[in-house]
Amino acid sequence: MNELQMIADFSNAFGPSGFEDDVLAVARRYAPQDARIEEDSLRNLYIYRKANTGGKPIIQLDAHSDELGFMVQAIRPNGTLKFLPLGSWVNSNIPAHKVRVRARDGSLISGITTAKPPHFMTDAEKNRMPALEEMAIDVGASSPEEAREAYGIRIAAPAAPDVTFEYDEKHDIMIGKAFDNRLGCAAIQATLAALNDEALAVDVVGAMASQEEMNCRGAVVTARRVKPQIAIVFEGSPADDTGVEPWLSQTALRKGPMLRHIDSRMITNPRFQRWALDLAEELGIPAQEAVRSGGATNGAPIHLSGLGIPCIVIGMPVRYIHSHYGIASLSDFRSGVRLATEIIRRMNEDIIRSF
Ligand SMILES: [Zn+2]
Repeated sequence: MNELQMIADFSNAFGPSGFEDDVLAVARRYAPQDARIEEDSLRNLYIYRKANTGGKPIIQLDAHSDELGFMVQAIRPNGTLKFLPLGSWVNSNIPAHKVRVRARDGSLISGITTAKPPHFMTDAEKNRMPALEEMAIDVGASSPEEAREAYGIRIAAPAAPDVTFEYDEKHDIMIGKAFDNRLGCAAIQATLAALNDEALAVDVVGAMASQEEMNCRGAVVTARRVKPQIAIVFEGSPADDTGVEPWLSQTALRKGPMLRHIDSRMITNPRFQRWALDLAEELGIPAQEAVRSGGATNGAPIHLSGLGIPCIVIGMPVRYIHSHYGIASLSDFRSGVRLATEIIRRMNEDIIRSF
């Protein structure tokens, strides 16, 4: 498996919330050859290890497949597209970037997110954040008819950032879009690949969940279908090392994956969390721990599913998530995969019961 090519393919794939089909096509391509794959109507994708017996405790590997994007709400008389955000954008991050809009025939049309050009702004407008209603996606059309007929764009057309993955090998830096959470999708595949020929005391199911950026909807259903006894959530988590004082930084680039003790919707099972952090230390796998006041992951629905599921989040630090671009390092990705792999190798019914 070419790990970098896989990450590039996941990152480049078009897949705003609710429209994850292209991401799932990539996932099918990189899944173990002998795995059983299922898909549901929410576009959740399930990868069942060939060696699963049906008689062992199930560990669910989660990652969400969607990314932040937009949906066309209406076409203005001047041909520009009024849109709604899909996922939590802040307005200052939206305008002046390239996006792709999915047309009626499935093709992807290039456009630009726009706000009023500076030449036509008043001084007051220059000094405030543009409102969503003042923004548009401009594909170059000059009338609603042209947008509809020549471009094939209908209302409800999805759009997503248009950014091509790059890797700077010298500095081990990946720049691209949707690392939240295509790094997680790639991590599921890399973990399944690493374990492929091994006998395990657990059955492993990789579940790529749709619509996480819209309040973790897909994973409500994946947890119901997989019915895990334990879960690992892979995430592309917000790196804080360029945003907070060094003494408060808990998710820095190149310091390994971040395991959160808490976020706004989950208190991580403290026993599973401690066990995972101790294992990382014992094996010399770099890892960071965080106490987060905000944020949430698919751990939120998964840990409350069934009769309550011990669940940890392995988050690869990504600078500037929830914007068009992210910066991450391959070494953090590899440490995250290694930690998950070593956890699964050791997991058994007794350990799960002790959590
Ligand atoms: Zn996110």
